[in-house]
Amino acid sequence: MSVAIAQVLGAALGGRSRERQELADSPIPLEARLAVLPCRGGPDLLRSLFEPLGYEVEAQRHVLDEQYPDWGPSPYFTVTLRATCRLRDLLSHLYVLIPVLDDEKHYWVGDDEVEELLRHGQGWLENHPERERITRRYLKHQPSLARQALARLVAEETPDPDAARAEHDAEEAVAEEKISLNTQRMGTVLSVLKGTGARRVLDLGCGEGRLLEALLAEKQFEEIVGLDVSCRALEMARERLHLDRLPPRQQQRIKLLHGSLIYRDARLSGYDAALAIEVVEHFDPARLSAFERVLFEFARPGIVILTTPNREYNSKWESLAAGRFRHRDHRFEWTRDEFRSWATAVADRFGYSVRFLPVGPEDSVVGAPTQMAVFEEVSG
Ligand code: SAH
Repeated sequence: MSVAIAQVLGAALGGRSRERQELADSPIPLEARLAVLPCRGGPDLLRSLFEPLGYEVEAQRHVLDEQYPDWGPSPYFTVTLRATCRLRDLLSHLYVLIPVLDDEKHYWVGDDEVEELLRHGQGWLENHPERERITRRYLKHQPSLARQALARLVAEETPDPDAARAEHDAEEAVAEEKISLNTQRMGTVLSVLKGTGARRVLDLGCGEGRLLEALLAEKQFEEIVGLDVSCRALEMARERLHLDRLPPRQQQRIKLLHGSLIYRDARLSGYDAALAIEVVEHFDPARLSAFERVLFEFARPGIVILTTPNREYNSKWESLAAGRFRHRDHRFEWTRDEFRSWATAVADRFGYSVRFLPVGPEDSVVGAPTQMAVFEEVSG
């Protein structure tokens, strides 16, 4: 069916019209009637998929066989969907959601299905409350493909995070160069981490792997995992660490994972410690609570070391215009009070203790440029 939509209605799905382009670009009242739609999951699933997209949903279930009502209901429905939207939106919703409703595992799914899903899901899937279920079912319950797609959904919220970062990293580098804050931060993280006795460690949002390199140089760390949402960053980390050329014993100690901290990820459970260094400020504030659960409830490492800029310190940097963040990709920067109250609330809620450390030269009025929280799981 979806393949048919693409073939027969390709131009409309792409939002093109030879004669009436302005009509293709405007939301208009539309009604789609699907005479026989397989719907494994019933009317509740149907509604939970279409209603968040603004559709009015009508559904009638077919019996298996009208002559033998005792055989009970079939998984087939006659469905009417009504919404005021652009034709291309309606078609891309159907393109993605019909196979999701069908949920049959009858054909092979490969990487290009991930691309298809992301292409047709653009602009609506990333904010859909059922995006995880849609992704899993669309990709026929292949967890590795679904993970890839979900990780990228987050990434696509900013148009091209990799390109944006390359451009703006330079800016942050200038802003922070005077005190080589990055080096100080790594030093502090390492010494605190070593002090905890941790052996198996996660570096969440590891970026280009500078900290991973330092961790690898310390024998104490027997298992080191770097995770990032950006493929480009992971590639750079792979090169920095010469991952392909390491002797086998070293290779066994370190692993890079592609994933997003906004989604629950079983690969992250069971570690002694997790680092999230200059990462939280990159999240959309609305996703922060998802991150909190992913890290403190599901991954649940014994120790979490988390750093973020201290917004108050920005006034000390002449190169930074008033009110600007250090990096254009930062969604927010916290004052010391804001950070403390967030971290304290998280610690209370998930059963951790928390202490705070300044990183970098401390100013008597505005504090230090980086703020660090060290969380420790309260046992018992
Ligand atoms: N920890 C590194 C990199 C900090 S930059 C350091 O201190 O140098 C922030 C990093 O977080 C980037 O590499 C970015 O790709 C990553 N990131 C942003 N959102 C993410 C998400 N949802 N899941 C995982 N990583 C994410």
